[in-house]
Amino acid sequence: MKCAKCSEETNEGSTYGFYYGYSKGEIKSRNHKLITAFYSVSQDLREVFLCHRCVDQFIEHRARIFAIVGFFVMLFIILSFVTYGGNNLSVLEAGIVFLIALIVGVILFFAILSGKKEPKQREDEGDRLAIKIHKSELMRQGFDSFFIRSERPYKF
Ligand SMILES: [Zn+2]
Repeated sequence: MKCAKCSEETNEGSTYGFYYGYSKGEIKSRNHKLITAFYSVSQDLREVFLCHRCVDQFIEHRARIFAIVGFFVMLFIILSFVTYGGNNLSVLEAGIVFLIALIVGVILFFAILSGKKEPKQREDEGDRLAIKIHKSELMRQGFDSFFIRSERPYKF
């Protein structure tokens, strides 16, 4: 089988897949408030073969991104709470805040990284990579909604 990411011929891989379709917007009125409902119609399944190495690399990459973003978001949230009202932090307090954010980042890193071993999580990550590879081509064809197999929304 040929890997859709690195184009290598190998049997060391799995078939992943995702649903794609297009969303339809509808404006409804509820309690005098206009709400916009979007839903996806005409979903098709696209199956994609990916080698284990490409899926591993993708999971590692996502783990790093989540760790870095998680660290800064956590840092920002805690700092905006503790410095609210103009409180200044001591060096010790700043260190604790930094440490908490760091721990959150590390937890996120290993939580995502466990997808390399956890079969269900690995399947989801492979599906995400499959979407990433095919998204721009499908968007050019007019499709605008993409779902991994386990998150397929209710079909209308
Ligand atoms: Zn590959």
